[in-house]
Amino acid sequence: MQEKDCLFCKIIRGEIPSAKVYEDEHVYAFLDIAPGFPGHCLVVPKNHCRNILDIDPKEAEHVVRAVQKIAPAVIKATGAEGFNVVQNNEEAAGQTVFHVHFHIIPRKKGDGMNLWTPSSYDSMEKMAETAQKIQAEIR
Ligand code: AMP
Ligand code: ZN
Repeated sequence: MQEKDCLFCKIIRGEIPSAKVYEDEHVYAFLDIAPGFPGHCLVVPKNHCRNILDIDPKEAEHVVRAVQKIAPAVIKATGAEGFNVVQNNEEAAGQTVFHVHFHIIPRKKGDGMNLWTPSSYDSMEKMAETAQKIQAEIR
């Protein structure tokens, strides 16, 4: 199922141009227009869904299999030494396109990209309390 006004659904339908790197029955992958580094790809399920909580696990499997195919190709093509898979959910986490997608970002040692700034817990008790709270919410 695709959504009329969704940017990535439009790309999948070919209504908006993209630099395609891979396509199969379930998945479409293309270059990010504003890459962290050249070769930065977006891997998206053809079926529209909003985020990682929304995606059918079977669809997610197809997307992950595609990531496993594409990432080694990105590394070879760009001369990268590693890659990050980044997946943002909701505006607070940096999601700007609300069609679930996985970024593959090629990386080299010392390339200067920082995905997050490490912080710390005030105490080990606080850390254990946080783990407990999360455990209690898992359904
Ligand atoms: P996110 O911020 O995780 O939702 O990622 C959305 C990504 O889509 C951003 O990194 C954008 O640069 C990228 N993007 C937006 N429009 C296009 C487009 N027309 N073609 C390729 N990538 C795009
Ligand atoms: Zn969509």
